[in-house]
Amino acid sequence: MENNNGGGNMADENSREYKAKNAWLEMEEAEKIEINKFSDRYANFITENKTEREFVKGAEKILKEEGFKELEKKEGLNMGDKIYSINRQRGLIAAVIGERDLIDGLCLIGSHIDSPRIDLKPNPVFEKGDLTFLDSHYYGGIKKYQWVTIPLAIHGIVVKENGEKVSLNVGENENDPVFYITDLLPHLGKEQMKKKMSKAITGEQLNILIGSKPLAKNDDDSEKIKNGVLKLLEEKYEINGEDFVSADLQIVPAFKARDVGFDRGLLAAYGQDDRVCSYSALEAILDQESPEKTSMVLLTDKEEIGSMGNTGMQSHFFENTVAEMVNKFYDKYNDLILRQVIQNSEALSGDVNAAYDPDFSDVFAKNNSAFLGKGIVLTKYTGARGKAGASEATAEFIGKIRSLFNEKGVIWQIGEIGKVDKGGGGTIAQFLANYNMDVLDAGPALLSMHSPYEVASKVDIYHTYLGYSTFYAQK
Ligand code: MN
Ligand code: MN
Repeated sequence: MENNNGGGNMADENSREYKAKNAWLEMEEAEKIEINKFSDRYANFITENKTEREFVKGAEKILKEEGFKELEKKEGLNMGDKIYSINRQRGLIAAVIGERDLIDGLCLIGSHIDSPRIDLKPNPVFEKGDLTFLDSHYYGGIKKYQWVTIPLAIHGIVVKENGEKVSLNVGENENDPVFYITDLLPHLGKEQMKKKMSKAITGEQLNILIGSKPLAKNDDDSEKIKNGVLKLLEEKYEINGEDFVSADLQIVPAFKARDVGFDRGLLAAYGQDDRVCSYSALEAILDQESPEKTSMVLLTDKEEIGSMGNTGMQSHFFENTVAEMVNKFYDKYNDLILRQVIQNSEALSGDVNAAYDPDFSDVFAKNNSAFLGKGIVLTKYTGARGKAGASEATAEFIGKIRSLFNEKGVIWQIGEIGKVDKGGGGTIAQFLANYNMDVLDAGPALLSMHSPYEVASKVDIYHTYLGYSTFYAQK
């Protein structure tokens, strides 16, 4: 391995070994201030915007403030133009048109804005044991036992029969009530405690407690408690029991993002996978005024369940949007040009990796694990069991990114998710790679990924942003 000539992460200039170094040691005071400022902006944004719909709304607000215009409303496209397009309020593309011809390809950063959570069933409200609950179906890979006995919030929308949309966001303000999933007291938990962790709390047990007061004294009403809650919903939000059928309601932890540790080097928050990359990419594109190649950020939904559906990475939204850009850039549409624009593109798939956890060291291969505090993680391949399902970046493309990051002082490390055959994972990289573009997974490492409260290092978050901004600004 050659020497590192910039602010990269080789401990010793004469060392020819890969050795990631703690990034805090490399930070000057001025950069530490920037790190804290970035972390505060990020923490506020993800506390305010916990779902994909909220993320899109929050991002659109920022983009508009920064002069981005809706692609659909543009007549033509020229160098320096800033545009965005939204897919069903759950996906978003923003781009800054570069100096070079579009056919030279995009500098693309793709990441996902959905996070593991608990969704509601279409007919969710029920009463049992003088309490009212919402029936749920969890979304994404969660360890169910982590979601009991914590404060929960309800976010989302309900579409009424007359087409009116009602937004719900309850549980986040200090004065709001929260919602709750129960667990058994230890005094009666002897049998439960003998169960496997995957069986101790089941998916069907994830019932969300939403009410306990009966409506009125009426001996004929066998569901007084449930009807009490439904009446309240009718009065307060003008929604009825049937309206739940046409709703996107999500149950998420009612936690704010908070600093962790006496030295405040870490940040805990719900859903950093993958709003950490999405937010970093969003800020990175705001830095671009006249990049050489067209910069693009692509925020997608449904990654946690396989990128399916019309808002996932497997939908045609990306392709259709680039087709519209081709049409507006060249004043004509040509399918071959579209294919060349996409094929000539280079992408970073922004997603998180697992951070080495010393309390669970047996699943990590230390020499190839990512660590908190050692910078943005470059993940050559994902997949599991002999790389099955992997999207693997080429040596050439990693070489290019490594050299770019070293030159510009972006602190990076490599990371493979766990020991061979211990598990694995995937990202949207594979779907970008299907377009025959170069793709590399790059994002920060997390502790307790997919839990209700995930932990990242502030220095890694900042160098993820810096890495993305550097990637966009490359000559
Ligand atoms: Mn992810
Ligand atoms: Mn995930």
